[in-house]
Order: sequence, then structure tokens, then C-alpha cells
Amino acid sequence: MIIMKKDATKEEVDSVIEEVKKFGLRTDVSKGESLTIIGLVGDERKIPFSHFAVLPGVKEARMIETPYKLISREYSEAFQDRAESRVIHVGNVEIGGETPAYIAGPCAIESKAQLFRIAEEVKRAGAHILRGGIFKPRSSAHSFQGLGAKGDEEAREALSWLRDAGRQFEMPVITEVRGENQVDLIAEYVDILQIGARNMYDQDLLGTIARKGKPVFYKRHFGASVEEFLSFSEYIAVEGNKDIILCERGELPIGKGKNFTRYTLDLSAVPVIQKETYLPVLVDPSHATGRRDLIYSMSCAAMAAGASGLAIEVHYNPAEAWVDAAQAITAGELKEIIDTCNRIHAITAQQNKRVKAGR
Ligand code: PEP
Ligand code: MN
Repeated sequence: MIIMKKDATKEEVDSVIEEVKKFGLRTDVSKGESLTIIGLVGDERKIPFSHFAVLPGVKEARMIETPYKLISREYSEAFQDRAESRVIHVGNVEIGGETPAYIAGPCAIESKAQLFRIAEEVKRAGAHILRGGIFKPRSSAHSFQGLGAKGDEEAREALSWLRDAGRQFEMPVITEVRGENQVDLIAEYVDILQIGARNMYDQDLLGTIARKGKPVFYKRHFGASVEEFLSFSEYIAVEGNKDIILCERGELPIGKGKNFTRYTLDLSAVPVIQKETYLPVLVDPSHATGRRDLIYSMSCAAMAAGASGLAIEVHYNPAEAWVDAAQAITAGELKEIIDTCNRIHAITAQQNKRVKAGR
């Protein structure tokens, strides 16, 4: 990382960038209120920092030790207050802003009528962003794979319903991209591109999605450590896209015998991640628990832990949902969750901000 002096000229900044290129690295330039920071993309060990420290206009040149340097607070605190987080703007919605953001909708889009009915209901319940799976990751090749699996025409049709439902009910829309060959198609229709837990490690997919320049909803793999999760997030950031919304959705349960939940929700990851990075973290209590009777309590707990929002699966007839029926809740239940979570957020936000700032 190279921190330029307050009065550094554009020529000085440009010549430092040129000098970095000579060592085979790329740069990520961030401008704070008064300082310009040049982040280094590539192997920083190739950089002679003492040489850079004395170039004209340079205030300080040093290595960032973490593997996720561009998304780290160590980097961002050079150009903004340590407690400042990234606010991601999607349409009129803010993620990571002053109030929590709620993503809701069906696990899978089943029909136009199903999607529009759920969209209307979740909007009324207070949701900000509409979700709906079109390409579903499924454990069995014999299960419903999402309408997108039927062919290009069906995929476009379902995507256009999602886009249109979002427009009609004034919510940005999100769906999962499961493979590189789906990126162009899906990016034509949606506002946020989702990378599912199973694809957290697919660095080619991460890069291709990041280059679309749209916000990325990035879910932690159920076997990934926090460090791995953040290190792989960096594959999105190095493409110049820092509109990354991180999502904790549960880890593989441990031990023998029943755990009674689908996964184990790692709530301490929320404040830990928010301390390490300036990116917003959301929690998905639906996939984490797999049980509709636990969504309320885990949502409240996630909010108290400092989540910037929630992602929840909703259906008007939960038991009949084609996918993930056991964890779907009604829009009425969603409304209760949103009302309670907004109150929890109001009580805990100040303290959680202190945690982020490392105080
Ligand atoms: C989803 O959100 O639709 C989903 C499949 O979740 P995950 O990738 O976390 O399993
Ligand atoms: Mn689901």
C-alpha cells in the first residue's frame, strides 16, 4: 500500500502507478477526503517499499500482510474512518447503510403468478430486495433444478418475470449465477448477482461475475473458514469491484448424531468479518437452519450480532414450495421479523459500530 501526501499532484500519483507496473503489479487507487491511496494488486513482496517511500509525493509505503488486503479495514482506514463501512447502492436501496436491508422471496421461481404474488407480499412486509432462484444448486440430479435448467428460452422468461416483478413492486432483484456460461445472460436482467455457497471457491466464476460491475452477493461455503471466505472475496475486489455483500449462511454441523439444524449458523463470524473488512455482512437464517420455526430467533440474533441485513426465503404456501419447503416462511412472519429486527438494530447499532472500529 502506498499512501500519497495530502498535496501530492496527479503527475506524482501517475508516476508512482507507472513505477508499480514496472514491478509487474497492478494498482487499486482509492481517494479519501484528503489522501490518495494506491493499493497493490499482486505479490507485494516484489515491491521495494523503501524505494517507493522516497518517491516524490509519497507519504508512506508499506506491505499489507493479510491475503485480503483490498477489502481489509487496514487498507480502508488509510482513506476513511476505521468505523466507516462500505455502503452499496442498488437502485434506491442501501446495503450497509444506516438501516438494515432485507432480501426476501421464494427459494425457486415456480411460475409468474407465484413470483408476483410473493413479490407483492414481501414488499408489503417491508422487504427491500426480491430474490428468486432460476438456476438452483441441488443435491440430487432428479430434483427440480429451477426453470432456467429447461432451456435458454425458459431461463429468459423466468428472468424477465423477476425483472418485471422488481420493477412493478419497486425492488432491485437478485438471483444466483451457478456457472460462467450463465453470467452474461443473468446480468442482462438482474441488479445483484449471487454466488452460492457451493461456488464460493470458483475463482474463475468470481472474476467473470466481478467484471460485470454489478453488486455481488457472495455466500460463505459451508466448510470455509472466515479467512478463506475473505481471501476468496478478494478475487472480486481485484477486478475493481468492491460492491461485495458478504453472506453467512451456516457451516457444516459437527459430531455424531442429530444436530437438528441443516447447518450451524456461525454468528460470531458477523462481528469478526465486520472488524476485518469494511464490506457489509448479511445473514441467511433460512439455509442456515433449514427450519421455519427457527427463522425468527436466528434473525433476531443475527441482527444483534451486527448484521447489515437478512436474506430470507418466503412463500405464501410454505409447505408446498417446490424447493426448501421446510424453511420457507410466510410474508406475515417476515413482517414480524422485519419489525423486530429494525428495533434490535436501533438498540445495538452504536455498540456494533464500536466493534467494527476495533474499540
Ligand atoms: C440460495 O440462496 O438460493 C442458496 C442455494 O443458498 P446457499 O448457496 O447458501 O446454499
Ligand atoms: Mn433455498
